[in-house]
Amino acid sequence: MSDCIFCKIVKGEIPAGKIYEDEELLAFHDVNPQAPVHFLVIPKKHIPDVMKLGREETPLLGRLLYKAQELAAELGCAEKGARFVINCKADGGQTVDHIHCHVLGGRPLDWPPG
Ligand code: AMP
Repeated sequence: MSDCIFCKIVKGEIPAGKIYEDEELLAFHDVNPQAPVHFLVIPKKHIPDVMKLGREETPLLGRLLYKAQELAAELGCAEKGARFVINCKADGGQTVDHIHCHVLGGRPLDWPPG
């Protein structure tokens, strides 16, 4: 998607604080962090949101969550944990229409969110 900000990060057209990259996935620090640890893990493939996930994409999303878990541990969240969040569409608070998993940690997080 030519106007998708996360696709532009994938293509290197805009900068990001990348922390992991392979042929299918990219992880980078959130530009507006809500916790001491706050990064995003995205598929390089443009999937707009969870409601548009295809069954054939379930292995990719499994890999994404596993990588999110590995990176959270590398960034110091293994013992105390973290929050893994995927917002979906307007009611879910999604602002970037390219599926992404937030990983937030490094402090206790309130529940439920606002
Ligand atoms: P969501 O509201 O779930 O769609 O989350 C989108 C997230 O993307 C927000 O937390 C933004 O701060 C973050 N974000 C937007 N643009 C960038 C960017 N260029 N680099 C890193 N994070 C971004």
